[in-house]
Amino acid sequence: MENTKKLRTWLDAYQLDHPLVIAGPCSAETEEQLLTIAHKLKDTDATVLRAGIWKPRTRPGNFEGVGAKGLSWLQRAKEETGMLTTTEVANAAHVELALKHDIDILWIGARTTVSPFIVQEIADALRGTDKIVLVKNPVNPDLALWLGAVERFHTANVQNLGVIHRGFSTYEKTRYRNNPEWQIPIDLQNEFPDLPLILDPSHIAGKRDVIFDLCQTALDLNYDGLMIETHHDPEKAWSDAQQQITPETLHQMTIDLRIRKKGEDHLEFQNQLNTLRTQIDVIDNKIVEMMGKRMKIADSIGELKKDHNVAILQVKRWNEVLGRMILRGEENQLSEEFVLRLYKAIHQESINHQQKIFSEK
Ligand code: PEP
Ligand code: MN
Repeated sequence: MENTKKLRTWLDAYQLDHPLVIAGPCSAETEEQLLTIAHKLKDTDATVLRAGIWKPRTRPGNFEGVGAKGLSWLQRAKEETGMLTTTEVANAAHVELALKHDIDILWIGARTTVSPFIVQEIADALRGTDKIVLVKNPVNPDLALWLGAVERFHTANVQNLGVIHRGFSTYEKTRYRNNPEWQIPIDLQNEFPDLPLILDPSHIAGKRDVIFDLCQTALDLNYDGLMIETHHDPEKAWSDAQQQITPETLHQMTIDLRIRKKGEDHLEFQNQLNTLRTQIDVIDNKIVEMMGKRMKIADSIGELKKDHNVAILQVKRWNEVLGRMILRGEENQLSEEFVLRLYKAIHQESINHQQKIFSEK
């Protein structure tokens, strides 16, 4: 993509002194519900009202959205509150209806971004539009697929673009509904610094209590905005009830979050330093998580050795691992001395784990 500076013109035009906030329910449920939420959001930092009209569900049988009639509710909410509106479009027919109802921003859902055919269909339906299109990351951790979708819109002469980071699905259950894999948006940001990057903490978290920390990390990484599912009565929401927060909580969150001020030189230095430090924090978390996983495997080996009466220390295997890692280290600009010390420490921890297993009855 060339001339990426233009991609953020739409965002700069809002002249916000804080990151963009998009808020609103996972799904539009009734006209009354949507208007109630919109009126509560009007007095917060939220600029854009979101609501899903057509809901892509992983499994059938869940609430699949109210359909096109919800678009008129969004229009009414816009008239009454002055907020901008956004909804998800998943095919050309959705696009036509959304344009007819003057929806300001269209977002592409994670289950759509995975399919180049559907993305192309939507891009063709939007060719040359001045509407804003925000592309959610695909459900699988694939940066090329994400960028490919953005490029299809760019090539269709859609100039007002942005991306939404909503996390990546994993087979293993983790503390998140969708793993953030921060490294992926960080790589994207390094490649396209002018492409507005928005965090959707709701679909990463899957539950209310981690949303704040996710938002803080994103702001520390210089994200341009947040899209947060907000409902006046979250417990009773027809979809994603556990992850929605009230407009009041959202308002308090925007007060409590640390937002970096841009502009002055020394602040610019602090910004850059903090961004780099947050990138390091992301990697450090990953390292410790991976170490934990490694030790769990060492535990399983310990069980196996114990069952078969084999000694814990296997010198030949250990020397092989060490030799391989020293070479790997060289490829990654790490000194032999460092790799040796690191692997001695890791090896010692594995032995401690296995000794514990041997001493158990
Ligand atoms: C949504 O935003 O309501 C939604 C369905 O998101 P995703 O496509 O990220 O799952
Ligand atoms: Mn949702």
